Amino acid sequence: MKNLVIIGGGPAGLSSGLYASRMGIDTTIYEKISPGGQITLSSEIENYPGVCDVKSGLELMQCWPEQAKKFGCKIESSEVKQIKKVGNVFEIELFDKTIKSLSVIVATGASPRRAGFENEEKFIGKGISTCAVCDGFFYRNQEVAVIGGGDTALEEALYLAGIASKVYLIHRRDKFRASPATIKRVLENTKIEILYNSKVKKVYGEQFVDGIIVEQENREIDLKIPGVFVFVGNTKNTDVLKSENGFICEMEEDGSVSVDLNMKTSLAGLYAVGDIRKDAAKQVVCAAADGAVAALQAVKYVDKIKELTK
Ligand code: FAD
Ligand code: NAP
Repeated sequence: MKNLVIIGGGPAGLSSGLYASRMGIDTTIYEKISPGGQITLSSEIENYPGVCDVKSGLELMQCWPEQAKKFGCKIESSEVKQIKKVGNVFEIELFDKTIKSLSVIVATGASPRRAGFENEEKFIGKGISTCAVCDGFFYRNQEVAVIGGGDTALEEALYLAGIASKVYLIHRRDKFRASPATIKRVLENTKIEILYNSKVKKVYGEQFVDGIIVEQENREIDLKIPGVFVFVGNTKNTDVLKSENGFICEMEEDGSVSVDLNMKTSLAGLYAVGDIRKDAAKQVVCAAADGAVAALQAVKYVDKIKELTK
């Protein structure tokens, strides 16, 4: 029987792991890919307080797992399929076994959304990417397209402009939703051409992307480019909370997990932190703070349950 299981090893999960293990309870994080979370897809982060040099997301997250392990937190590589609560015990289904724990912190974050154009799925990894820092290098001195109008699309367009010969920034409206400072940098960058009120209709090619067809008002534009970067927001990873009758805890209408200010869900002993929780600010610093809050609560809860069942 474990005391605390944390699902997800992004900023929220790793911070929970650090706090809980440092307070002396047996803590295990299950991470399905590798620790670090979605910020490791980012080419730069400059708003994590106390870290004054601009770093890549990967660099920022590098020492977080080690810091948590220093206090005894275990980090296991495994995907969690489902959670259910039987009496006071959570049963956590991994791909090959089921484990038990007195409390659970869900920190599964979010995954990149698809834009929905023709052939998108077919060319993922063959010219279509959702990670500029991973794949940008393949398009050195070539032309690429970036789709989206939020902070991610604009920041990654700026990063790609430093590698590619030209970046077409394709946005479905005539206004960006990114922060004003980032919009200003994009507008000033001569290597970025903005296509407003434009939608990608399809991507074409044989084995790899050869080009894209963009619909702009009443015309179609054929861009012969080998690389397309899709940054159109993300979907919350809440599958682990699904049950036969819906979800094991209360959810919000937008698909996020309902929590109170202590990150408690409607199910005792279950906490939700970071990008999946209600009203998340979707920032690394906020995810890390949520993790600390939930860990403090989980430790109190575990002590109480142990006392009751003595
Ligand atoms: P995530 O980082 O999404 O981590 C969740 C983890 O859970 C992942 O590692 C995932 O593999 C794992 N997981 C999911 N499901 C399972 C499962 N079933 N079993 C096991 N493991 C699972 N924020 C900023 O503050 N500043 C920035 O400059 C900034 N730039 C960004 C740039 C990009 C390109 C992106 C995509 C995001 C950016 N953000 C930025 C937002 C920031 O990355 C997120 O707010 C933050 O990572 C959320 O942390 P999290 O721990 O809640 O979730
Ligand atoms: P986002 O803010 O949700 O923006 C998604 C963008 O994609 C929007 O411009 C949207 O258009 C467009 N879009 C959505 N679906 C589309 C589709 N099917 N086809 C074409 N375009 C589509 O997502 P994000 O940029 O990934 O940011 C996610 C969160 O992380 C935000 O809260 C953001 O502030 C935060 N973040 C912060 C930083 C930072 O602090 N520096 C960096 C990155 C991300 P519309 O505008 O028309 O809706």
